[in-house]
Amino acid sequence: MHGMMMDTQLMISSLLTFADRNFPEQEIVSVTAENPRHRYTYRECFKRTRQLANALDGLGAKFGDRIGTLAWNDYRHLELYYGVSGSGMVCHTINPKLTPAQIIFVINHAEDRLIFVDPLVLPLLEAIQEHLTTVEQFVILADKANMPETTLSNVLCYEELIGEYSDEFEWPEFDENTASGLCYTSGTTGNPKGVMYSHRSTILHAYASSLPSVSGLLPTDSVLPVVPMFHVNAWGMPFGVLMCGAKMVFPGPKMGDSETLQALMEEESVSLTSGVPTIWMGLLDYLDQTGKNIDSVQKVSVGGAACPMSLIKRFRDDHNVLVKQGWGMTETSPLGTVFGLRAGMEDYNDEQVAEVQAKQGHGIFGIEMKITDEENKEQPWDGEAVGRLKVRGPWVAKGYYKQEESQSPLDESGWLDTGDVAMIDAQGYMQITDRTKDVIKSGGEWISSIDIENAAVGHTAVAEAGVIGRYHPRWTERPLLVVVKQAGAELDKAGMLEFLVDKLDKMSMPNDVVFVDELPHTATGKISKLDLRKQFEDYEFTA
Ligand code: AMP
Repeated sequence: MHGMMMDTQLMISSLLTFADRNFPEQEIVSVTAENPRHRYTYRECFKRTRQLANALDGLGAKFGDRIGTLAWNDYRHLELYYGVSGSGMVCHTINPKLTPAQIIFVINHAEDRLIFVDPLVLPLLEAIQEHLTTVEQFVILADKANMPETTLSNVLCYEELIGEYSDEFEWPEFDENTASGLCYTSGTTGNPKGVMYSHRSTILHAYASSLPSVSGLLPTDSVLPVVPMFHVNAWGMPFGVLMCGAKMVFPGPKMGDSETLQALMEEESVSLTSGVPTIWMGLLDYLDQTGKNIDSVQKVSVGGAACPMSLIKRFRDDHNVLVKQGWGMTETSPLGTVFGLRAGMEDYNDEQVAEVQAKQGHGIFGIEMKITDEENKEQPWDGEAVGRLKVRGPWVAKGYYKQEESQSPLDESGWLDTGDVAMIDAQGYMQITDRTKDVIKSGGEWISSIDIENAAVGHTAVAEAGVIGRYHPRWTERPLLVVVKQAGAELDKAGMLEFLVDKLDKMSMPNDVVFVDELPHTATGKISKLDLRKQFEDYEFTA
């Protein structure tokens, strides 16, 4: 027997109509290349989004077409998120930090028909345009006065384009499993792989990310996503924020600029912000140097890479900000686990709370997780057993766009093998100990490169640290620690090792420390272990 409830489909456009009705005066503030503070209301945003939907129709875009965006976090990109997906097309967010060859690959692979591009990223497209086989039209995200010169052919001006169309548009309703967004993972091996989100997965993810234990957003909040909208939909914020009716603050191309971030936080009373650890390290240093504050900020979501303990403590002690670490990946939309305290932890002192914050977090309803050994046998949640982290749920990818089943990321029982190695404690907190391919196998035992990196960045003279396994005649592999020093700081190998000695077990102590000017990064800002390994291909331990 079926239940007798309405079969209303979960549509991305319904977020927009809901927010329009309920929070029309709420603000969206953006930094753009042409305007340091563009501000308008939800109502104005949605009016323009409907104009955009009509414009897409006018350009001949059809249901299911992939529409590319090469853009920063700003209001026009938000309009594209909703205008494209709401019309039944697929919003393909392209990461401008991919290599030119990868950008050509993702655009051709997705078969993008139109590309909406920020003027600042234009040179990148100009250099590759002859290799793009499917793009019919480029739309530059600017008004007429700010249209740049370009060698691209078939170019339109965004403001002129949407200005020609009516702001009345009936959002279509269709199957909630219809594709809505496409994001390619910048994998460290092979070509990028396309993760195809649906309306259903996006809405369910937005619900989950709004839970009190996750973002807990209220209409009185002001949210600054510093995670790019081209990387896993800025962790879903553009959807969750509208669902909760909060104020949205976008840093535009100034994502890595601490001065702009601090000014936005102060002027726009930002209460929640989100980003990768590197961004926050930069901001904290800037605040130290200038003596400026971020008084309105209550919570910082940190993910994408392990959050160093020093970051948790500096935010807590110097700025009274709670760090909420979360774990996820492009394939999980990305929400997987998040920090939060359990009943019974009310009396924890600061240090005990920080220990919990340094873990990747606890489960969220909707995502099942487990750790398994090499034979796919589930391992206990005892805080000791380590295994491959596998997840399952309605916002987890079951395959990659246009890839054969043989390349499926799922294991034989239908769970997504995340490629992360983790342990889970008895209270359900998950801790990443490594990536499967980054794990160092020394004398038959697994050594966590992440543990060593985290310990190393705890030293005030260390700006960044990467650990790789290198061949060792006795142990097969031993850890090599590669360090970038803070500008002007003094540190040598002996000093580094001495600092680590009481923080790591004997087996994990690196055999050598090498200092470099910079570490190689992937397009999403993670240390590229692949490149680091290449860089140290000929390295040999002397002891
Ligand atoms: P991406 O798909 O580019 O977002 O990368 C996802 C990967 O980033 C995960 O599989 C993890 O290896 C890593 N990651 C994400 N969040 C965390 C975290 N909080 N701690 C450690 N690693 C993380």
